[in-house]
Formats: sequence, C-alpha cells, structure tokens
Amino acid sequence: SADLEQNKLLFQLSDSLEKIEWSFNRVIGCDGSASILRKSIVEKADIQYVKKPLGHGYKELTIPPMKSGKFQIEPNALHIWPRGNHMLIALPNNDYSFTCTLFFPMIGNTSFETVKTEKDIFDLFQSQFPDAIELMPNLVKDFQNNPTGDLASVYCKPWHFGDKALLIGDAAHAVVPFFGQGMNASFQDCSTLEKLMDQNKNNWETIFNAFSSTQVKNGHAIADMALENYLEMRDHV
Ligand SMILES: Cc1cc2nc3c(=O)[nH]c(=O)nc-3n(C[C@H](O)[C@H](O)[C@H](O)COP(=O)(O)OP(=O)(O)OC[C@H]3O[C@@H](n4cnc5c(N)ncnc54)[C@H](O)[C@@H]3O)c2cc1C
Repeated sequence: SADLEQNKLLFQLSDSLEKIEWSFNRVIGCDGSASILRKSIVEKADIQYVKKPLGHGYKELTIPPMKSGKFQIEPNALHIWPRGNHMLIALPNNDYSFTCTLFFPMIGNTSFETVKTEKDIFDLFQSQFPDAIELMPNLVKDFQNNPTGDLASVYCKPWHFGDKALLIGDAAHAVVPFFGQGMNASFQDCSTLEKLMDQNKNNWETIFNAFSSTQVKNGHAIADMALENYLEMRDHV
C-alpha cells in the first residue's frame, strides 16, 4: 500500500509474510495497470479517473516450430484471423515458434465464460479458425492452462500528486494492446521525465506538473487510438 500522508510504502513479500516499510520524499509509480500508487492518489486527490473495461479479454496460445526447427508459417508477416467481434493473431518468436493471442468476449453466449471443455475449444476453433488447429498441437492444454487476461483503458488526469507522487507507464495510462504502443508510450514517459529533470533540477512540483501537462493528452490519445484499432483489426482487415 502507499500512504501519501505519512510518506510510506508498505510491501509484503510474495514468498513470506514479511512486511517491509519504506519512507520516501517522493515516489514514482510504475506498478502497472492495477497500480496501487494510482489507487492511493485517486483516494487522496481530486483527480479525474476512469477505468473502462473492454469487455474482451485475451488468452495466449502457441504455434510451435516444425520438427525441422523452422517456422510453421511466414515469420515476416502479422497474422490476423479477423472474425467480426473477436480475432486471433500470431507473432513470431526468436525460437521459431509463434505466440498466438485470442481476443475474445469475457462473458456472453460464446465467450471465455462458456468455452471451457475440450469439445467447446475444438468447436470454436473448427468453426472460426480451422486452418490454425493443425498448427497448434497443444491447443486444448494451452487454452485450459493459460490464464485469461482482462483488458481495460485507464484515463487519469493529472498523473501526479503535488511534488510527492508521479505515475508513469501503464500505471498512468493502461491501454488495450491493439495499437502496439503501450510499452513504447511507457518508454517515452521515461525519456520525457529525464528531460524535465535535467531542465528543472530539483524543482519536483514543476517537473511533475510539466510531465502531466505534456504527457496526459498523449496517453489519452493512444488509449482512444488503441480502441479504434481493435475494430479495425478484428472487423475491417
Ligand atoms: C496482450 C498484450 C500485448 C501487448 N503488446 C504490446 C506491443 O506489441 N507493443 C507495446 O508497446 N506494448 C504492448 N503491450 C503493452 C505493454 O505490455 C505495457 O504497456 C507495458 O508492459 C507497461 O509497462 P509498465 O512497466 O508500465 O507496467 P508492467 O509491465 O505491468 O510492469 C509493472 C511491474 O510492477 C510490478 N508491480 C505491480 N504491482 C506491484 C506492487 N503492488 N508491488 C510491487 N510490484 C508491483 C509488477 O509485478 C510488474 O513487474 C501489450 C500488452 C498486452 C496485455
């Protein structure tokens, strides 16, 4: 947890019950889309905050390399199986496998909620992605064992609290992954922050204010464009 009155962070180690308390003068939170620091800032300050669930989640599946060690499908291409309200994509890896991602409704008649058994999974793939089945020998095992990830867009403004706390990366601007820019935008946060720190030395309120002023509108634009690109990828390509 983050206590912005007492300037303290409390960590519980994942492999023990040990708790560690850490005092700070200021804290920069890059703790991802479910950010604890963002939660504390939202509770403490009068900031605009909306988390918009996409309603669709994702599951990673694998196309392994051929027995000969080669790629099973063309690596210099983005493979998309667009199907209207859902899609499958495949991206190549250095080990000649592909990581496939199924983007699919979380709930509803045909959704992650209803597709569970071996028969459900084969029925879905036979009706929607028949050519992918033969590429994925571990389809059922992967589908049943790999976690289902939820997707949401975070709109938050500003991204700082006085001169005490700042959010960067997904903590500030979690976006859906269809524009391929979430990590890039997070790296851009780092370079922008570094420039502002050089320009303004230790004037943290100015640094944090300027960071929010320049970056928030970019973050919100990427979030909107990423949502638009889901429609493009799943329905218009
Ligand atoms: C399916 C998918 C595909 C994507 N594809 C792309 C792409 O092609 N290109 C692209 O640019 N981006 C892509 N992204 C987005 C990218 O993964 C994120 O934007 C990026 O990882 C954000 O980095 P981050 O460091 O802000 O957050 P994260 O990578 O989420 O890192 C947060 C870190 O904080 C830690 N943490 C969280 N809470 C706590 C806590 N309470 N205490 C201690 N530690 C904590 C976590 O363990 C983690 O290590 C994709 C995302 C998804 C889901």
